[in-house]
Amino acid sequence: MLYKRENGWKALSAEQKEVIFTFSEGYKQYLNTAKTERKCVTEAIRMAEEKGFVAVESKETLEAGDKVWFNNRDKNLVLVVVGSDDIEQGANFVVSHVDSPRLDLKQQPVYEDTEFAMMKTHYYGGIKKYQWASRPLAMHGVVVLKDGRKVDITIGEKDSDPVFTIPDLLPHLDQHVQRERKASEVLKGEEMNILAGSIPSTIKDDDIKELVKYNVLQKLHEDYGIIEEDFISAELQLVPAAKAQDVGFDRGLVGAYGHDDRICAYTSVKAILDIDHTPKTTAICFLVDKEETGSAGGTGLQSRYLEFFMEELVEKTRRGDYSPRVMRKCLWNSRALSSDVNAGINPLFKSVHDEQNASRLGHGLVLTKYTGTRGKSMTNDADAEYIAELRALFDGADIKWQTGMLGKVDEGGGGTVAMFLAHYGIRTIDAGAALLSMHSPMEIASKFDIHEIYRAYQAFYG
Ligand code: MN
Ligand code: MN
Repeated sequence: MLYKRENGWKALSAEQKEVIFTFSEGYKQYLNTAKTERKCVTEAIRMAEEKGFVAVESKETLEAGDKVWFNNRDKNLVLVVVGSDDIEQGANFVVSHVDSPRLDLKQQPVYEDTEFAMMKTHYYGGIKKYQWASRPLAMHGVVVLKDGRKVDITIGEKDSDPVFTIPDLLPHLDQHVQRERKASEVLKGEEMNILAGSIPSTIKDDDIKELVKYNVLQKLHEDYGIIEEDFISAELQLVPAAKAQDVGFDRGLVGAYGHDDRICAYTSVKAILDIDHTPKTTAICFLVDKEETGSAGGTGLQSRYLEFFMEELVEKTRRGDYSPRVMRKCLWNSRALSSDVNAGINPLFKSVHDEQNASRLGHGLVLTKYTGTRGKSMTNDADAEYIAELRALFDGADIKWQTGMLGKVDEGGGGTVAMFLAHYGIRTIDAGAALLSMHSPMEIASKFDIHEIYRAYQAFYG
């Protein structure tokens, strides 16, 4: 028989379309609120609390049906619904990442040049640097003072807020300096500095030479109580100031910053929050950080945090009857969706895809057996047995799904967190949505897919 997958919009009733459009509004709201990993975690906790989840520290033991969260340094969140089976039988993980490509402020960012106050940045993750010039940027993050107090900063999201921007070179004068540069260097890393002020201070002090910079620092002190040295212990990020918006006359697409990978984070959080019964298998929704820079660090998936919270889960569900063997067995018996995005076919650049194997927007959940680069290096390559199990599961639940690849064999490639889950023996496959313009300030997703991957995660949790 011939294998055929169709565009998901085709078979929908007006009511189903309405459900999809309404669901997408909630997602757009989440994207507008949660523009950093910290804010994704805060927002997910707020949503979880509304649904009766509590911090795991408040429970001595855990019973089937209990709903708890683990918070790792405000950058990872683990939501758990305890199942009726012994945890030794394994758990169902949906793992997505909440960090997105962006510009971080350097530790000593402020300087003055030609009567402008400027701030230096260091880009985070794989970006096309030129895409970030001449556009409004918002600043989000925290400044931690020497006494431990945290100052939250969000500037550029309200209509009345100022924004920041990287001033690009005008085309009239770019002939020698910029026009012949390679795409990766149209804007160089050290040129990604933002305009931060332009009015000189009126202070009469001969020691203060940089009056515009001084004025900006004074304003920061007035508004936030911070001094220049405090930037050293800060995490401040510049992200596109724009809000998520519908794209196209028919409003079938959402254009936004951060679909990668908040499209999977939001839908998997919603799916676990909407579990309305005690599942047989423990359900786990895990939001991780640092995926875009290789999953290193204490909040990336290469850390031992997964073992840390699984140990506590095993211990609390088995009333202290814990052994490393039980935890390893639990992990080896588990299965996971490494929920991350895939490169959908772009009508302008079809040549980088093998069209027969590429994913398409509007065709539902993308199951990607392997990612990696040339010759499948650095990838989890999902077992055929596991894929067969998922085919049966999703077909049985009437979920639209498709296969995907990250471009033609020799075209390039990339990785996800899948291999770091698979290290534990967790049966793992990449499963998420197809995007256009991935890693750009305006990524594109299909509303059909946003809702369909939510349904897929619900089916996966059982
Ligand atoms: Mn991703
Ligand atoms: Mn990415």
